[in-house]
Amino acid sequence: AKDAGRNTYRFFEDRMNAQAYQRLMLETALRRAIERNELALHYQPQMGMPEGHVVGCEALLRWTSRDLGEVPPHRFIPVAETSGLILPIGDWVLREACRQQRQWASEGRPDVRVAINISAIQFRHAGFETRLKDILDETGADPAQIELEITESALMQAGSDIVDRLWGLRDMGFTLALDDFGTGYSSLAYLKRFPIHRLKIDRSFVKDLPDDAEDRAIASATMSLARDLGMAVVAEGVETAAQRDFLVAGGCRILQGYFYGKPVPATVFTDTWLSAEVE
Ligand code: C2E
Ligand code: CA
Ligand code: CA
Ligand code: CA
Repeated sequence: AKDAGRNTYRFFEDRMNAQAYQRLMLETALRRAIERNELALHYQPQMGMPEGHVVGCEALLRWTSRDLGEVPPHRFIPVAETSGLILPIGDWVLREACRQQRQWASEGRPDVRVAINISAIQFRHAGFETRLKDILDETGADPAQIELEITESALMQAGSDIVDRLWGLRDMGFTLALDDFGTGYSSLAYLKRFPIHRLKIDRSFVKDLPDDAEDRAIASATMSLARDLGMAVVAEGVETAAQRDFLVAGGCRILQGYFYGKPVPATVFTDTWLSAEVE
């Protein structure tokens, strides 16, 4: 029994080492990702309802590492966050997405809004507003066409000045979206005070619509709450016509998901979603 215990321990130790090693490999490779030009943004269309045309997109980060190949965001974003690398990477994302908005505007599509994911760590960082301002100046992007997606948990972790900061970002002209809504623990009392334009219903609540009774209740409650608070609702992860119909009937005005299109590189997005639409 003693041996077995020791073996179990050794097994865990090896596993821990393997995990720590994996992490170190990722972090080392990620540290060079920007200079090696391995990062890219893909863009997923967001469709305005009920008309069903493109109103914008969400920028989603992709990393093709020379050493590790394609690494998905759910593997490298947490490493970027614990290592602090999310700050330079987040800056890169902001600059690249703003540059792209500006480019689409100059190509005759100033109406295409670009949503950008902001990490809690990035948002908490003291220099965040200054960085944003610099990047706007540098790229010439229109803040009204830039949507900052901040997660529910990031807002909850923020300090007591959170409401003032959100007003500050709004005054700078940005659109503000509360991402992954329903997955954290937003107090509804707080939500009322947040000057947010949009609630983004998390994919986990959309996935089993319209069959699942609980998800129907959560989605409907979110849509009516948003309406009462004067916010718009964006649904992500829409994969079927039945999900679309349920969400549109509930008053959701913007849909995003594989039903419409997957995230694609900017050039593909332009060809697929913007060129054909010139009227
Ligand atoms: P998220 O912000 O919730 O983004 C939505 C995720 O759902 C994306 O995964 C998107 O590709 C995926 N998705 C969209 N529609 C569908 C659908 O119909 N079906 C399914 N099965 N999936 C769908 P992705 O690109 O792998 O990103 C995962 C997460 O990584 C994002 O979740 C976000 O939290 C984070 N992330 C991605 N890019 C960035 C970034 O630039 N900065 C930061 N801080 N986080 C990012
Ligand atoms: Ca998002
Ligand atoms: Ca989500
Ligand atoms: Ca259920």
